[in-house]
Amino acid sequence: RQAEYAALRELPAETLDGTRMTLLMNAGLRDDAAALEQTNADGIGLFRTEFQFLVAATLPRRERQTALYRSILETAGDRPVTFRTVDIGGDKSVPYMREETEAEENPAMGWRAIRLALGRDGLMKVQARALLDAAAGRTLNIMFPMISEPWEFDAAKALVEEQRKWLERSGRPQPAKIRYGAMLEVPALAECLDVLFPKIDFLSIGTNDLTQFLFAADRANPMLADRYDWLSPAILRFLRRVVRAGDAAGIPITVCGEMGGRPLEALALAAIGVERLSVTPAAIGPLKAMFRSAKLAPLRAAMTEWLDAPGVDVRERLGGAVHAQGI
Ligand code: PEP
Ligand code: MG
Repeated sequence: RQAEYAALRELPAETLDGTRMTLLMNAGLRDDAAALEQTNADGIGLFRTEFQFLVAATLPRRERQTALYRSILETAGDRPVTFRTVDIGGDKSVPYMREETEAEENPAMGWRAIRLALGRDGLMKVQARALLDAAAGRTLNIMFPMISEPWEFDAAKALVEEQRKWLERSGRPQPAKIRYGAMLEVPALAECLDVLFPKIDFLSIGTNDLTQFLFAADRANPMLADRYDWLSPAILRFLRRVVRAGDAAGIPITVCGEMGGRPLEALALAAIGVERLSVTPAAIGPLKAMFRSAKLAPLRAAMTEWLDAPGVDVRERLGGAVHAQGI
């Protein structure tokens, strides 16, 4: 099948009835960016900056952060890259910050991601400077993980803006444009989209954490791995509501959790209106092949019916529809 995917390299991920899906890839280390060329992905939708922190024995210095971000942007060329600020803590603890992140009973719900970054604002300032320097003269897409309430986005943005203004005052190069995004991973944020949307340029839904919190089911516990289905009405209805709100407000929405990399799940997401997916590089070819052989309009209509009717097994129905369409 590799040859089949390679043959699709230059072709868009467009469905038979004309919906153009944007397929981005997730990355975290310098070498991951090479997959952009192989897969011809539309860009990097999630660059997990904490990976550099996780593999280091000590806190990476600003120069090393800048060098990494610059190298990613250079490899990406004209393709957009979205950097996610550090998501340390939870399942991603770093040795040099252990006392802070490991003394917790529920680390996934604890001192992590934007919470830790705003608390340790020295770390966040250094990272902001590194990102601003690396993106000098081009567009910087930056997003903040685990935003639970809009004020956390405000505080994180203010921190980056403070660094940008400093660069401006001292006459140093800065990005031509900065686009600010929030990650929707905590269900509470979905209740505040009317407040959030006017503040942000884009939204990225992290379904790994979002499902963990929606179902109160530890994403790292194998005993719970198969218990909750990504195609359950609770998740799909939840996501549909967010997507509809985003469309109405003109805010681009990307799904960047692992869910989007699985064929049936990706099709379900497209059927509820998601048009941008950021997935593991190996999923780009298979997803493109699938979307190019799918008709989305009937799936959209069917999905509306399934999600509105009680007790429907969406996985089974969608599987049937895929079979019927010969996807
Ligand atoms: C997510 O939670 O879905 C996500 C993309 O972030 P991470 O997997 O890095 O927590
Ligand atoms: Mg997450």
